[in-house]
Amino acid sequence: METIRTVAWMKEKSRAARQEQRIIGLVPTMGALHAGHMALVERAKRECSPVYASIFLNPKQFAANEDLSRYPRPLKTDVEKLTAAKVDGLFLPESAEIYPPGFSTYVHVEGLSERLEGKSRAGHFRGVSTVVMKLFEIVQPHYAYFGRKDAQQVRIVQQMARDLDLDVGIVVCPIVRESDGLAMSSRNTYLDAADRKAATVLVRALRAAEHEIAAGVRDAPHLQGAMQKILKSEPRARVDYAEIVDAETFEAVVRVSRRCYALLAVFIGKTRLIDNLLIEPAGDDLRCDL
Ligand code: AMP
Repeated sequence: METIRTVAWMKEKSRAARQEQRIIGLVPTMGALHAGHMALVERAKRECSPVYASIFLNPKQFAANEDLSRYPRPLKTDVEKLTAAKVDGLFLPESAEIYPPGFSTYVHVEGLSERLEGKSRAGHFRGVSTVVMKLFEIVQPHYAYFGRKDAQQVRIVQQMARDLDLDVGIVVCPIVRESDGLAMSSRNTYLDAADRKAATVLVRALRAAEHEIAAGVRDAPHLQGAMQKILKSEPRARVDYAEIVDAETFEAVVRVSRRCYALLAVFIGKTRLIDNLLIEPAGDDLRCDL
């Protein structure tokens, strides 16, 4: 697998692939790869050739008080995983390659970027939209693969692609979980043994909402209450938000009838974790997907 470090060389590779009428797939990541990332790679491999993964720890999506400096960077094992998965190339730029001195242009998706994750993490989605836009321009993918784990992020990327007429298909992949249900995340490595055990409270809370929906509950405050009850039972957990929102607008709903998400952001000790449950109409009923 080739490692590509410059924008110019990455563009050259993509230009050549497009000239040969090939279908380029992109899997953007921040590294510390786990099975969730690798599921995106596998899906991309089935649908595209060549497939490029990017590893870029984007400073612009971290606020000053966040975990950029201690974010895990196991580059050697990441390269091994991508090589084993037969990824065609790894785009691995330095920060100054993406943000040279004098960089001053940002993409901001209004509205969606201000809610929930955007409210708790000021400037986060501006950083995400900007770097994803740049990666699309540099790698020129026909399809780009994102995880539903970051549901608001992928919704914002879809909105950006629609609003700016980008010729890239946004593919949303299911959440990959540990055997006890915890959503895989690079940040799970921050958890000590006790916090790791406590962290299952997120999926347990989502399962409680799922259970209520299966029993016919449609009232969003009731579903939120069911989640809060589980979250409150875990002394190591501090809830940032636990909301039922419309899957398009990410505005709170009072009644679950159309496509919605139950969204959680919870601190376990100092580690902030997110997770969600997708709720979709299926015939006259609702179907839940963890
Ligand atoms: P990150 O490296 O955290 O920026 O994540 C890169 C991509 O992997 C994003 O599209 C994430 O949504 C996706 N991803 C992260 N964790 C998971 C997971 N557990 N299941 C599915 N996709 C994931």
